[in-house]
Amino acid sequence: MVLQNRPTQFNEYDTIIVGGGVFGLSYALAVIEHALPKKVLVIESRRNYHHDRNWCFWLDDDVPSYLSNLISQTYQYTVFDDSKEQCTLSHTDLPYCRLSSDAFYQYALTKIENSESVDLVMGWQANLDELPQHKLLDARGEWGTCLPTNQMTQAFVGLTVRVPNHPYPLNTAIIMGDMRVVEDACAEHFVFDYILPLSKTELLVEVTSFSATAPSVDTLKQWTQLRLSRDFAEYTIVSEEQAYLPMDTKIDHAHNKVGAHSGMMRPATGYAFVQIQRQVSAMLGLYNKVSSFGRMTRFMDGVFLRVIKAQPSLCPTIFMQMVSAMKTQNFIAFMNNRLSPGVWWEVVLSVPKRPFIKSVLR
Ligand SMILES: Cc1cc2nc3c(=O)[nH]c(=O)nc-3n(C[C@H](O)[C@H](O)[C@H](O)COP(=O)(O)OP(=O)(O)OC[C@H]3O[C@@H](n4cnc5c(N)ncnc54)[C@H](O)[C@@H]3O)c2cc1C
Repeated sequence: MVLQNRPTQFNEYDTIIVGGGVFGLSYALAVIEHALPKKVLVIESRRNYHHDRNWCFWLDDDVPSYLSNLISQTYQYTVFDDSKEQCTLSHTDLPYCRLSSDAFYQYALTKIENSESVDLVMGWQANLDELPQHKLLDARGEWGTCLPTNQMTQAFVGLTVRVPNHPYPLNTAIIMGDMRVVEDACAEHFVFDYILPLSKTELLVEVTSFSATAPSVDTLKQWTQLRLSRDFAEYTIVSEEQAYLPMDTKIDHAHNKVGAHSGMMRPATGYAFVQIQRQVSAMLGLYNKVSSFGRMTRFMDGVFLRVIKAQPSLCPTIFMQMVSAMKTQNFIAFMNNRLSPGVWWEVVLSVPKRPFIKSVLR
């Protein structure tokens, strides 16, 4: 049920989750959908849910069917390009998918409203110390400000815009378009365009940066608007999303931490949605594979991040070599965290050797 008042007694709950975002609501949905014998309380600080982001990922069996049914767009082709060349990947069997937060939040709310096993209370900025510690899962997430990190930050402002018409095919997502390096007074930023056609008259456009010192929100928004003005004299902004995602191999081992801040966000890519589904399933005994990234992934991602931090100007070459040299299904496995020795071997063969060897030896 969605509670109107905060509970003062917690005896009836087996689990209390602070943070009703991807982790909190996915955990609640899994309990409801699988009719698990558990009573869960989800505490969310927002008073209402509104559309605040889109989650994209290559289709994966680890996303439960009740969530994959909510996918609003699929893309059979993905495009990567720098100033010299373009590479288009074709993956009809493993489409790139967009799930809008609107659809996710609404589905979760409807399910929770009719549920006896999950209670949700909104508008409560919970203080963890006031809750029974042994039942607590800390799923708080904060992505609006740049957190200190030893490695890199992925930052973007995404604008969903309406235009009279646009030239982008509806089955194609531009994942890393016009890869380039932008220098400002603070740092060199590896920057690329991310363009998802949502309909014949709507697009999601983001200019994304990977950098040691992330640009301000104003700068990121200016970059996205500049990119839009290359194609359109006029457009109407329908919604806006913004993120500072730490690209960091350190894990927050704080007690009961779950969700993206517990190491579920892939350091090298910033993708977290599918991995959080794996974490939820593993915690509820629905999935028997290891849910966090292994030591090999952290080591390799650490090497990767050190290289791109030291030499942002190498990034376009690294990514173009990876997409053009790797088999498409292995590149997707790399992005979706289905990492096997064979996938890593292809990654190692595809990238320029000297900077990576230097980074390993450092
Ligand atoms: C704009 C944006 C786009 C993204 N796009 C993608 C993508 O395309 N693909 C992908 O895989 N990943 C993406 N990510 C990364 C990641 O999947 C998301 O950040 C995801 O929402 C993380 O899930 P979470 O449950 O850890 O945190 P969140 O979903 O952010 O949930 C945390 C919740 O905790 C609440 N909260 C915080 N403090 C308190 C408190 N004291 N008491 C109660 N509640 C509290 C917040 O209001 C929030 O609802 C994106 C992130 C952002 C910000």
